[in-house]
Amino acid sequence: NLSDRLERSFKILKGEGKITEINVAETLKEVRRALLDADVNYKTAKEFTETVKQKALGQNVLTAVKPQQLMVKIVHDELATLMGGTATDINIKGNPAVILMSGLQGSGKTTFSGKLANMLKTKRGKNPLLVAGDVYRPAAIEQLKILGEQIGVSVYSEEENKNPVKIAQNALQYARQHGKDLVIIDTAGRLAIDEAMMNEISAIKKAVDPEEILFVVDAMTGQDAVNTAKEFNDRLNFDGVVLTKLDGDTRGGAALSIRSVVDKPIKFVGTGEKLDAVDVFHPERMADRILGMGDIVSLVEKAQEQYDEEEARKLQKKIAKNQFDFNDFIGQIQQIKKMGNLKDLASMIPGVGKQIKDLDIDDDAFKGIEAIIRSMTPSERTNPEILNGSRRSRIAAGSGTSVSEVNKLLKQFDEMRKMMRAMSGGGKAMMRNMKRR
Ligand code: GDP
Ligand code: MG
Repeated sequence: NLSDRLERSFKILKGEGKITEINVAETLKEVRRALLDADVNYKTAKEFTETVKQKALGQNVLTAVKPQQLMVKIVHDELATLMGGTATDINIKGNPAVILMSGLQGSGKTTFSGKLANMLKTKRGKNPLLVAGDVYRPAAIEQLKILGEQIGVSVYSEEENKNPVKIAQNALQYARQHGKDLVIIDTAGRLAIDEAMMNEISAIKKAVDPEEILFVVDAMTGQDAVNTAKEFNDRLNFDGVVLTKLDGDTRGGAALSIRSVVDKPIKFVGTGEKLDAVDVFHPERMADRILGMGDIVSLVEKAQEQYDEEEARKLQKKIAKNQFDFNDFIGQIQQIKKMGNLKDLASMIPGVGKQIKDLDIDDDAFKGIEAIIRSMTPSERTNPEILNGSRRSRIAAGSGTSVSEVNKLLKQFDEMRKMMRAMSGGGKAMMRNMKRR
């Protein structure tokens, strides 16, 4: 399975002293195969390994971290990104908001309906109505009623009516009349995909126009889970996935596969039979679980933090001594680029968000600057003072820019240096003043 395959691919790096093009390529070949076998599509798997490669080769050398550990951390982060990055909320804005459950029999629809009603009632102050749409087995209605009692949520059912579409419509009317702001419709599943079931749930969808259609799937069913997800999605175009039975020892590769195949967010995970055994889906945690190497990931994170702090301190010293040079500058640019897309970064600054939206900033903004700095010799980078006219024209030619662009950068750099120095000096003076008071 995916977890074992990934674990094995990291072994290639075991005992390697450093990350090289060759050992990275070998490792990622295995990672890519593991992803492909887990149903990640070819293009996604290729992009995944390409990103991991760039990150691995571009990493700062942390002495505290071994190549294998670093690779685990990078793959972990990319897995989380692939599964959506951050948690995705459900849409419960309507009044009443309607949530429709879909999935095979035994996947956990009825149980999850109860869990969800309970969660939205206690945590989000909703007043839910559970609807018994599984009309084929009397026990199914009874099961939902018992759940409803346990959590103090009303259950709508019609013992005599065998038409789930009508029941759903009637339930909606009942909800409006009784001030219910959330309607959760449990439905009947079959043991396998079957036309009658699909027709029925499609008809319910059409009749009640739900805010959310959730597809519930048993994480332990592995490859079958992926096929089922695809069929349901083709028919229903659902909004999110609920992965149940993650309390077993399944590593959760299904999360990645389903996400890749249907490209819909996983929204919740079920972790037991009890009504509180439910969690919002967190891609990071699932990546931990798939890799099963959470300790390595946190070790690398700590080492990276320490390194960053150390670097910041060193930089601070250099600035104070007016030794900030072009090497530091390019390091800073790299740092900014590592943080992500420039536009995203800028839009996080309060008040900037809106204006920047239509602005054309791209990650090439630093390209000219970087080219110029890279065309400098090491001694020119550390001592920009020596950059006379002939050196400047050599750099312009080498970087494919013009002398006036080089001059402009040098001038800006000089001003930046002065400003940083003033700020760091000022900072110290301010601290002294504060202490004195
Ligand atoms: P439905 O046929 O889709 O409505 O499935 P049910 O809700 O009736 O669940 C089928 C079985 O799976 C029941 O025995 C549940 O108790 C069990 N179940 C549901 N969710 C979970 C879960 O997250 N973990 C575990 N261990 N069991 C679950
Ligand atoms: Mg059921």
